[in-house]
Amino acid sequence: MLLSSFVGGEFVDSGELFDNVNPIDGSLVGKVSEADQSVVDKAVRAARSTFDGVWGRYTVPERVALLRRIADKIDERAGELLKAEVADTGKPVPLATTLDIARASANFRAFADILAAQGIDAYHTGRLLNYAVRKPLGVVAIIVPWNLPLLLLTWKVAPALASGNAVVVKPSEETPTTATLLASIIAEAGAPDGVYNVVHGFGPGSAGEFLTKHPGINGVTFTGETKTGAAIMQAVAPKVVPVSFELGGKNAAVVFNDADLERAIDGLARSTFTNTGQICLCTERIYVQRGVFDDVAKGLADRAKQLRFGRPDDPHTTSGPLISQAHRKKVLEYYDIAQQEGAQLLAGGGVPKLGPALDKGSWIEPALWTGLDNHARILREEIFGPVAALVPFDTEDEAIRLANDTEYGLAASVWTSDLERGHRVAGAMKVGIAWLNTWYLRDLRTPFGGAGLSGIGREGGLHSLNFYSELTNVCVGW
Ligand code: NAD
Repeated sequence: MLLSSFVGGEFVDSGELFDNVNPIDGSLVGKVSEADQSVVDKAVRAARSTFDGVWGRYTVPERVALLRRIADKIDERAGELLKAEVADTGKPVPLATTLDIARASANFRAFADILAAQGIDAYHTGRLLNYAVRKPLGVVAIIVPWNLPLLLLTWKVAPALASGNAVVVKPSEETPTTATLLASIIAEAGAPDGVYNVVHGFGPGSAGEFLTKHPGINGVTFTGETKTGAAIMQAVAPKVVPVSFELGGKNAAVVFNDADLERAIDGLARSTFTNTGQICLCTERIYVQRGVFDDVAKGLADRAKQLRFGRPDDPHTTSGPLISQAHRKKVLEYYDIAQQEGAQLLAGGGVPKLGPALDKGSWIEPALWTGLDNHARILREEIFGPVAALVPFDTEDEAIRLANDTEYGLAASVWTSDLERGHRVAGAMKVGIAWLNTWYLRDLRTPFGGAGLSGIGREGGLHSLNFYSELTNVCVGW
């Protein structure tokens, strides 16, 4: 299979190809045509041309109808999208079905509903009337990572189109397929040519950098690593365009003595091991009150030992591989660092032997550590694998201090049966999202984003519409 960039309603190639490799067994999924500077330039021009033309004249009800048609077509082609996402990422079929593909159409429907229900802000004071006119930004660059490819892409494309922008999308080089399939879905749903463009390639010196440095873009929304966010911020600084950044995390869980332990251990296992730990919201630091420390450590280690590696369509498989050999090398370096720092290993910590058919894949065992404190690198740096370090605490104040002792600020979870304390501690977390007795549940209308090194701005519901639009206030006097 050859994947091409999608520009102005047509698939285009530049001549340079790169490999798309299956992380299950190292086999070749297909070749991808890398967008050079001229392909990126054509994509931005195509987006601009329809933004100034036919797409720019779409009314709000027409945009709402288009978004609903895209959602319906995603559902119709869910099987094809699922196959593509599983081949690119290696994640188990049930996970990709419930987490990734289901959210893609939900993203379009949610933003169609939010746009349809949106009113006008007007303030009437004496002899003055103020009202704000909402306009699209223009051409928006959307750059996304490989861990939840279609989910994170549609989370940005849906509100960008709802707000009337044209977009140029740069999917991760590791997972280029579903962004390309989405091009044909959006075209079939009736979007004018140029509204949705895809450019394939890498970051520095490739499509990612060409796009963020392009003078024709009016905003950048990015999900990925913090250091990439910093590079993109520098690239767009001379243009002074708005950025929305959803970046890395080093998320904490806090478990109190009075927690429902079965529920807490189940939640901690999901938040540590789901998607092989490759979700920005996954937990990598677990603070446990001393009275239940041993029970939680044992319960979680048991859950780690129950994980089953295997092909995505094997019903017994619970865990897929990491995304690539390069990422496994990085995670394994942290396994060595933990050992050098003196951590005790509760479970896993190596590379599983799965037989000749799978040993070329990027498989990894989980790792659970104890015995270190917040000075250790494994408690400070984002690893992005199926790992967690457990640390005991005595008092509520200490738990809050330990959980907040990080430069990141994406997510946290708090586990307790004392609701008053639960609200107090969850509210004290310096993060964009804090869960109480649960993890990962998301309502698409709520604000999503991170504090500190975890990001800039919030998306979700009206927060998304605010990022993807420019407001002009009109003040009328009489
Ligand atoms: P990454 O930053 O390496 O890459 C993300 C995207 O940016 C890719 O498409 C890549 O090609 C592109 N890119 C890289 N360098 C670039 C540059 N200089 N200019 C323009 N584009 C560039 O991230 P990744 O390894 O793909 O994803 C994992 C990271 O994403 C983790 O840090 C994780 O925490 C983070 N993440 C955050 C969220 C969130 O919502 N906060 C969600 C998912 C993942």
